[in-house]
Amino acid sequence: MDTVVTRFPPSPTGYLHIGGARTALFNWLYARKTGGRFILRIEDTDEARSTKESVDAIFKSLEWLGIDWDEGPFFQTQRYDIYKEYINKLVASGHAYYCDCSPEEVNAMREKAKSLGKKPMYNGKCRELNKEWKPGMVVRLKAPAMGTTVVEDVVKGNTAFPNSELDDFIIQRSDGSPMYNLAVVVDDITMGINTIIRGDDHLVNTPKQMLIYKALEAPLPLFAHVPMVLGSDKARLSKRHGAMSVSEYMDMGYLPDAMLNYLVRLGWSFGDQEFFRREELIEKFSLEHIGRSPSMFDMDKLTAINAKHIQDKSSSELAPIFSAHLAKREIALPDTQDNHDGDTKRVEKIIETLQPRSKTMVEMADAAIFYFRESIEFEEKAAKKFINSDAVELLKLSARYIKELKPDEFTEKNLEDAMKKVMEETGLKFGKIAQPLRVALTGGTVSPGIFEMILALGQKKTVERIQKAIEHIQ
Ligand code: GLU
Repeated sequence: MDTVVTRFPPSPTGYLHIGGARTALFNWLYARKTGGRFILRIEDTDEARSTKESVDAIFKSLEWLGIDWDEGPFFQTQRYDIYKEYINKLVASGHAYYCDCSPEEVNAMREKAKSLGKKPMYNGKCRELNKEWKPGMVVRLKAPAMGTTVVEDVVKGNTAFPNSELDDFIIQRSDGSPMYNLAVVVDDITMGINTIIRGDDHLVNTPKQMLIYKALEAPLPLFAHVPMVLGSDKARLSKRHGAMSVSEYMDMGYLPDAMLNYLVRLGWSFGDQEFFRREELIEKFSLEHIGRSPSMFDMDKLTAINAKHIQDKSSSELAPIFSAHLAKREIALPDTQDNHDGDTKRVEKIIETLQPRSKTMVEMADAAIFYFRESIEFEEKAAKKFINSDAVELLKLSARYIKELKPDEFTEKNLEDAMKKVMEETGLKFGKIAQPLRVALTGGTVSPGIFEMILALGQKKTVERIQKAIEHIQ
């Protein structure tokens, strides 16, 4: 086969939603897998509803997902001359004609067809009249009256549409603007698109589009109509099933790779494998394994996949995302003062302490706040239970032994030894020491493991915080 050329043609009338992102992903993956090209086209002919904001939102979401395009973005509103040229060709070759039937006339034809038990349609009055163009006329395609148009689809198999149900549909409006199906086909032909993967809500347009291909004597592309994404209640996916826009997931702390992994599984499968890295998806994706039944969007599954991807990444990969979420909490990145390895290393250490227990980057950023605060506040219950006179001795000893360590002795092993000394001298078990320490250092009773947390917090801050806790008691 020739080089695969796919496309994603969103209408910019809102944000990039889950279903659209999945369509983009399938087209992108297929192009990347086959060494083909992926084209971005903005279908903005509905000028009343298209906005610059949603164009920008679409770009931003695609970029965030790492779905890059090889050509475009093309804008349909900048291509009216091309559509006109093709419409004129169709008229000149006798495949289309000018029609000046008034809306009232056309309505009457439709009513009549209905009363005869047929689909409401235009009756072809101007078809053989060879009318000359006058302002206000529409252009109609001559559709075959008999036979069937069969859509051959790699996902759905064959679907036959009786031509008797298609009338001579309009390809150019009375104001000279092209109709949707005409513009799509002219774009797909002129852009060399040979593979069209899209939602099966577009299947009804396909027979009309095929007639235009035929009239233009252009080869048909390969069609793959993908079943819709549904909500957990099997209704069409909508706002009430959760956030619909891709950018909301970015804000909620999902990783682009997790999003890709989850989106691709909404309709495509590879055995029962659930977890895929980006490169693996490119390697394994195929049209043959797109399922025939609709898939259901499930937030919990997405979150579980996200947690896996968070664990799968290195802390340095997560660092920029982590920092961006911290910045939203008005935490500019850490000071280097009490940190021996430099800023970056410290942030990475902090991330590593939280990685195994964070399902989203938002959770991670929230759980990290205590590391960066100048001073921490104790949770009331925790302070009552653990930061009291019983704890003074163990806190003092802990502070002393941690402080005594030279910078290059500030290691997990030496911290363990320091705690052993505290245990010996106080006669307390490790648990009895760790909990007050944890509250002293974090303000609460839930935190990463005590040693890794102390290492990430840094020696100076650790000692300061323990001393503050002692002051608090006294
Ligand atoms: N612009 C259409 C949409 O956003 C896509 C058309 C197509 O894929 O052919 O749904």
